[in-house]
Amino acid sequence: MAAIDDLPPLREVIAAHGLAAKKSLGQNFLLDLNLTAKIARSAGDLAQADVLEVGPGPGGLTRGLLAEGARRVLAIEKDARCLPALEEIARAYPGRLQVIGGDALTVDPLEFLRPPVRVVANLPYNIGTELLVRWLTPAEWPPFWESLTLMFQKEVAERIVAQPGTRAYGRLAILAQWRAEARKVMTLPPEAFTPPPKISSAVVHLTARPAPLYPADPAVLSRVVKAAFGQRRKMLRAALKGLAPQIEAHLEQAGIRPTERAEEVSIERFAALARALSGAA
Ligand code: SAM
Repeated sequence: MAAIDDLPPLREVIAAHGLAAKKSLGQNFLLDLNLTAKIARSAGDLAQADVLEVGPGPGGLTRGLLAEGARRVLAIEKDARCLPALEEIARAYPGRLQVIGGDALTVDPLEFLRPPVRVVANLPYNIGTELLVRWLTPAEWPPFWESLTLMFQKEVAERIVAQPGTRAYGRLAILAQWRAEARKVMTLPPEAFTPPPKISSAVVHLTARPAPLYPADPAVLSRVVKAAFGQRRKMLRAALKGLAPQIEAHLEQAGIRPTERAEEVSIERFAALARALSGAA
């Protein structure tokens, strides 16, 4: 296959800059540039968007995003050892790559981004879910991003796209699908990474809905779902009894039988329960 750019192969970049992977930073690098270009293509139309990339590492996905035509990429990387390698990419794509050395959990990228914004990242596993939850729960909706294209452990990806009636269905599925359309676009075996992790990975693509799927107060919905899945084997009348004195009446008002379990209840009915509890049904 043709090279995606004129920069050196990633193995040479890693050797030249001494980028031995650090486990503490969740470093499992993608070195196949045709694969990173494919992930970039799954993120939608990048030519009209600024892309926020968290954890570019030696820059495999960054190069994929730029080669696929991203208008601009803003990359936040915690490992200072990677910054010189990323600056080489910035020089090869003048004016299109800005690199910030820092922790994505504390750096606020918004002032550096021009809408529309797409987030694309092969996230470090230890902060992936935390960042996803933050991106899905901003103070105001719609959020700053139009889409999120993110690599997760396969099990986490399955929890994000899970449907009711399955073991993977829970808080993450409801949070993600209430406010976004979520689909799994790719599964990658451990050997796709250097070094290979123990588990398989998958890329999930989420598109922000203009408004949540069903009306509900986000704080009340979150409280209901947390309590319901906190004791997912229990019937809802028991799992939710701490939420309101007349919980059975509220459940019935929302079209939920008090004997059902959390796993069986659709997002629509959880939203109805949140409205019933807010007195706004
Ligand atoms: N994107 C690269 C690729 O696909 O080969 C690297 C992916 S690697 C799984 C995760 C990257 O995130 C590493 O480069 C790591 O140094 C970086 N990282 C870890 N924690 C971070 C944090 N809190 N903020 C920013 N980057 C972080």
